[in-house]
Amino acid sequence: MAAPGENLRINGDRLWNSLMDMAKIGPGVAGGNNRQTLTDADAEARALFRSWCEEAGCTMGLDAMGNMFAARAGTDPQALPVYVGSHLDTQPTGGKYDGVLGVLGGLEILRTMNDLGIKTRHPVVVTNWTNEEGTRFAPAMLASGVFAGVHDQSWAEAREDATGKTFGAELDRIGWRGDEPVGARKMHAFFELHIEQGPILEAEGKDIGVVTHGQGLSWTQVTITGKEAHTGSTPMPMRRNAGLGMARVLEAVETIARAHGPHAVGAAGHIDVYPNSRNVIPGKVVFTVDFRSPDLAVIQDMETQMKEQARKICEDMQLEVSFEKVGGFDPVTFDPGCVAAVRAAAERLGYSHRNIISGAGHDACWINQVAPTAMIMCPCVDGLSHNEAEEITKEWAAAGADVLMHAVIETAEVIT
Ligand SMILES: [Zn+2]
Repeated sequence: MAAPGENLRINGDRLWNSLMDMAKIGPGVAGGNNRQTLTDADAEARALFRSWCEEAGCTMGLDAMGNMFAARAGTDPQALPVYVGSHLDTQPTGGKYDGVLGVLGGLEILRTMNDLGIKTRHPVVVTNWTNEEGTRFAPAMLASGVFAGVHDQSWAEAREDATGKTFGAELDRIGWRGDEPVGARKMHAFFELHIEQGPILEAEGKDIGVVTHGQGLSWTQVTITGKEAHTGSTPMPMRRNAGLGMARVLEAVETIARAHGPHAVGAAGHIDVYPNSRNVIPGKVVFTVDFRSPDLAVIQDMETQMKEQARKICEDMQLEVSFEKVGGFDPVTFDPGCVAAVRAAAERLGYSHRNIISGAGHDACWINQVAPTAMIMCPCVDGLSHNEAEEITKEWAAAGADVLMHAVIETAEVIT
């Protein structure tokens, strides 16, 4: 299988201009974007993407979850396509690059292949997955999840937004429901280019993150019950302070996560204190412990240790404690062959790179269940994302798309 030459590059200016043109649709209030899924702005973004794909000579497929598939033919009608892509929807106060770079980077590689007359044996398809963000209709990565058989389609279509509108009704309203059965397409491979959404690549001055794993997560909701009492008139030895119990458990969470380093993390981002009054000792606290690691056994071990220590802490303080598992996502190991293709591409192009673990969920995490999959990450300024101030450089975007193109052309078998 021939590898593309090291001088083969995408057109960085064209990619950047397309990113800026797309960002005009669904502008935010602070320079970013508010282009939530299945809104009028989403429909407008889809129409622009489709027009660009058609200009590039692609045929557009659309499935019943609104997933878009822009195909560039290969030379072998029997060969399964190599897919690339990500999502065009954004957070309510989102950036211009989260998701969009992966879709328009995919389009840019097709434009470059057209410019240079590059033929591949396998077709190449650029995908826009519907509702990756999950802000309007929870959960995140909804349509790629249905595609991969993780979620039931009718369940997904019945998801409601804050005003009671359903995913299915809104998909029909904006006119982007297709005829294709969801998940019917078979893939030779899938590659997703995405901004890191973390600070590591920029801090280390690396151009490219070769994503080897996706972090798994586990959410355990902990309820500690003590006794509400007056903060002034209750003697210290007679208190059953659920808030203090939580503080000690959170110290344990920190220690446990650090002991399982370097890739494990743990914290509680959700905390409810009852009655949450300045002069009442908390009688009850409910909080969610979030543990993450690329290794399932590590997540399970952290959970077990947290529960053991929480029981001991609460027993010593005459508090009651209970646990409920409220969410989870198993770690992802990306396909070694696809990961190697990404690393080889970065190497060939002369870009600095390092292995990296995705701390966030992505469509690629679901697609990995049905096709050999890998991800490419590029740095973002200060690791900032899900924020209108999200920023990358033109050079970072171009490097990521260059690597995407080389990995795809090699996997799709360039005809020489
Ligand atoms: Zn994203």
